[in-house]
Amino acid sequence: MSNSDDAVMLDAISKWLARDVEPVAMKMEHADEYPHKIVEQMKELGLFGATVSPEWGGLGLSAGTYARVVTLVSEVWMSLSGIFNSHLMLAKCIEKFGTEAQKQKYLRRLASGEIRGGTCLTEPDAGTDLQGIKTRARRDGDNYVINGSKIWITNGIHGTVFTLLVKTDPAADPPRKGMSLFIAEKGPGFTVSKKLEKLGYHGIDSAALSFDDYRVPADALIGGREGQGFYHTVGGLELGRINVAARGVGIANRALSEAVKYSQQRKTFGKPIAQHQAIQLKLADMATRCEAARLLVESAATAYDEGRRCDMEAGMAKYYASEAAQQNALEAMRILGGYGYSKEFIVERLYRDAPLMLIGEGTNEMQRIIIARQLIERNPV
Ligand SMILES: Cc1cc2nc3c(=O)[nH]c(=O)nc-3n(C[C@H](O)[C@H](O)[C@H](O)COP(=O)(O)OP(=O)(O)OC[C@H]3O[C@@H](n4cnc5c(N)ncnc54)[C@H](O)[C@@H]3O)c2cc1C
Repeated sequence: MSNSDDAVMLDAISKWLARDVEPVAMKMEHADEYPHKIVEQMKELGLFGATVSPEWGGLGLSAGTYARVVTLVSEVWMSLSGIFNSHLMLAKCIEKFGTEAQKQKYLRRLASGEIRGGTCLTEPDAGTDLQGIKTRARRDGDNYVINGSKIWITNGIHGTVFTLLVKTDPAADPPRKGMSLFIAEKGPGFTVSKKLEKLGYHGIDSAALSFDDYRVPADALIGGREGQGFYHTVGGLELGRINVAARGVGIANRALSEAVKYSQQRKTFGKPIAQHQAIQLKLADMATRCEAARLLVESAATAYDEGRRCDMEAGMAKYYASEAAQQNALEAMRILGGYGYSKEFIVERLYRDAPLMLIGEGTNEMQRIIIARQLIERNPV
């Protein structure tokens, strides 16, 4: 897409958010209601193919433009970005690592939103330590038989197709060499065991999934070779981290704009609270965090788009922007006083949504470890 195409896309997203999402988001979020109608609108906007190549019917957005889309959406309702983001991680994995037959079978239907899904990595006993997963796939003729369980799977209820990380060789040393990734479509043996209730991130489904003698054809193995699953998974993490960072920027921005607006309307001791220096200091810190977070996301996305190594940059963006979201949401709540705690204002939602950014796509503890490791590796003495 050209720069002017990008501008048209961003303008269409902004208009859609103001017209169709903002007026209904608060009610639906409080009711934890899945936004079926909005999902149809997202299909029309092309969001389910946002980062899929035009060759496969997608928009082919760069990481930089996609991050701006995610930020805009997250300023209004962060949950919506999860509906297409997890789906796009699945599509990206097939496009990058899948066989020609897998691309032909899935990419166009994923890009249009005709079929939707996400990624199944985390298990009840293994999240950060993915090599500790227990879900097992055993070859049986032209099929694999899969047994195990996954947890916290975004789009787990309304999605029908997922990447599924399993062990094909549980004795492998190191364990990652025995891990494989399948394209798993819902069917006999693949069931939703539970809808998970959450602090925030409402409206979007998070589920525990069970695999009981679930059979997939051998040609559902991504790339057609066993032992590549861990590498395919970590190959998508940089983009995933840039996306979570972009969501953090969205939450931080909205917290700031709500605080700036409210502080000029609310009066105490005869003047708007924005005239009190204690509030001004908060606004200054919040605005600086927004700008710094945005620039880190932009820098990581530029490196990604230019094909440069960006694991440290994506880690920094994810770490900083998610902490900025959390801090700004809390500061906005303080500035709104009692109203910040009220369900009539968006600030309480920002405060509930922000912590997920600290955890998703690798916890911030892990991001700091990744950043430090990279610093050491890139600066040998
Ligand atoms: C709403 C939601 C949606 C999600 N969506 C998906 C999804 O679609 N697909 C999917 O596969 N997963 C999903 N996840 C799971 C998410 O990726 C994991 O929760 C996350 O990776 C952390 O794993 P864990 O919860 O098992 O925590 P753990 O790995 O058990 O970590 C617990 C704590 O220990 C710390 N820790 C762990 N190892 C180290 C270490 N070596 N050094 C220092 N500290 C460490 C962590 O930082 C954390 O503070 C989702 C989670 C949530 C809450």
